[in-house]
Amino acid sequence: MKHVIIGDGKAWIDDAPDPTPEGEWVVIKVHSSPICGSDMHAYHAPGAHAGGGHEGTGEVVAVDTAHRLKVGDRVLINPQSGCGECRVCMSGDYIHCRHAPAGATGHFAQYVRKQEWLCPKLPDDISYDLGSLMSCALSPAYQALMRMQTTAFHTILITGLGPVGLGAVALAKFLGAEVIAADMEPWRRERALELGAEDALDPSEVDVLQFIRDRTDGEGILRALDASGNGQAERLCIDALAPLGKVAFIGENQGDIEFSPSRDGIRRGIEVITAWHRDLKSTGDLVTFLRRFPHAEKLITHCFGFGEADEAFATMASRQCVKVILRPWE
Ligand SMILES: [Zn+2]
Ligand SMILES: [Zn+2]
Repeated sequence: MKHVIIGDGKAWIDDAPDPTPEGEWVVIKVHSSPICGSDMHAYHAPGAHAGGGHEGTGEVVAVDTAHRLKVGDRVLINPQSGCGECRVCMSGDYIHCRHAPAGATGHFAQYVRKQEWLCPKLPDDISYDLGSLMSCALSPAYQALMRMQTTAFHTILITGLGPVGLGAVALAKFLGAEVIAADMEPWRRERALELGAEDALDPSEVDVLQFIRDRTDGEGILRALDASGNGQAERLCIDALAPLGKVAFIGENQGDIEFSPSRDGIRRGIEVITAWHRDLKSTGDLVTFLRRFPHAEKLITHCFGFGEADEAFATMASRQCVKVILRPWE
């Protein structure tokens, strides 16, 4: 089969052995494989990196003793793997499993190998491309917004309008919340407005905190979500909150930010939430979102065949995109 190698700011195609089914592990022919912001570290890093990609949808083409799936089933391919038996796997939050078996293969490939219980069936009316949004475009934001119990009664600040942040804008609008979005890139702010955000601010030009205070008689807002992983934006989300507000961090920040358990936490009653992926039981909710939200397709801006993999990654690196999808058979 063909798979994509990335590194040194380039992407190219190479050959790899076809994966084989074994026990609960099935083989899926990948039809849509979105690029994630987290894949871009390997793309920019020196060397040649195989095994990238962790989102996508496809069709089951080979099974061993698997019994939930059969050849021909259309499925969502969840990231990574899990033991299927521990506390977090049983809760559906398998992404945090510490006993995950080896054997999962990267999704930037024509075929992947995956445990069948991590591949929910894709309804016939959801296309492979649209269904692939149930990976990182929607999952971290969905989990965060649900954990914060976000509703139409809330105004939410969303900082960082890459694919994950724009997914959060779309889901927050679907839930009826008022959205104040912020990002320095004009192109991304335009997309937020298209998805229904009430405001899209440039934090290099507008004092976002003052904007929120002016809008709320100095009170602040009850929900904030950062998808940028930028420490200043994360701190802004904390500062923007009214007493008893909730903030979610879903952008990766390997560093530290200032947070006072007393001043920020106890005395203001603020709740801090994080999310990496979503629990498995939420697939139906995201299918409902894809069916009912009128602008869901706007979360996909580019699709490239494997022959154009280099252009696909260059597009992702340009930041002038929402989701960029690789189609391994084109
Ligand atoms: Zn991802
Ligand atoms: Zn487990």
